[in-house]
Amino acid sequence: MARFPHFGAPDRARRIAEAGSVAVIGLGRFGRALALELMAGGTEVLGIDRDEDLVQSLNGELTQVVRADSTKREALEQLAVDEFDRVVVAIGDDISASILTCSVLLSMGIPALWAKAVDDQHGLILEQLGVHKVIYPEKDMGRRVAHLVRGAALDFIEIAPGYAMVKAPAPSSVQDRALGETGLRRAHGVTVAAFQHGENAWDNADATTVLRAGDTILVVGKTRDAEAFAQLL
Ligand code: ATP
Repeated sequence: MARFPHFGAPDRARRIAEAGSVAVIGLGRFGRALALELMAGGTEVLGIDRDEDLVQSLNGELTQVVRADSTKREALEQLAVDEFDRVVVAIGDDISASILTCSVLLSMGIPALWAKAVDDQHGLILEQLGVHKVIYPEKDMGRRVAHLVRGAALDFIEIAPGYAMVKAPAPSSVQDRALGETGLRRAHGVTVAAFQHGENAWDNADATTVLRAGDTILVVGKTRDAEAFAQLL
């Protein structure tokens, strides 16, 4: 398949597109990780990269992986990329290739086009072009690690500006009584969404949940409240 990039590729890609899958263009570290995670979650993936070695290395790992130059409209049409509902452009360093690829895909009318930006300028151009969702992996990960490195949180994700979900050990002040009796929301402005007893599976938390020492919780709230709560012992 990778050695004969276009042999049988359009029909196969068309079939994959019908399955509600995702086309990932650019299979560097980011695109590769994304494509493999989609596959692991049961989503079919058409992977495209201009680098033959990369394509070969992913042969058999994705539903289909093809070598092609994504800045060429004919190449994308031949691969039936225009029939995909969701396409992610994971080209970073070669900004002109990223922009050209996105502009071709937008002119094809892809309903959900996501693209990775390496910096704010790149992101601004992609947004102005009309890319539906621009992602900043390095910037977002840097911000995320900053929140983790300065506190006790085990994981942190800012879901919307100023609003976060934090994974942290359950503080002693909310242990050994029902969550509904702790006055947690009033005192700290956060909600415990889920919890884990030791190594057990995660479960949804409600007002009757009783947390114990050693439990891990998932807290949602304004970023500063959720973070402050994660610092409590
Ligand atoms: P990462 O950090 O994910 O490795 P990167 O920004 O360092 O990404 P780039 O080289 O910019 O990596 O792009 C990622 C991939 O996109 C590379 O494997 C590259 O071969 C591929 N790529 C770049 N331009 C094109 C193109 N015109 N057509 C197809 N693939 C391309």
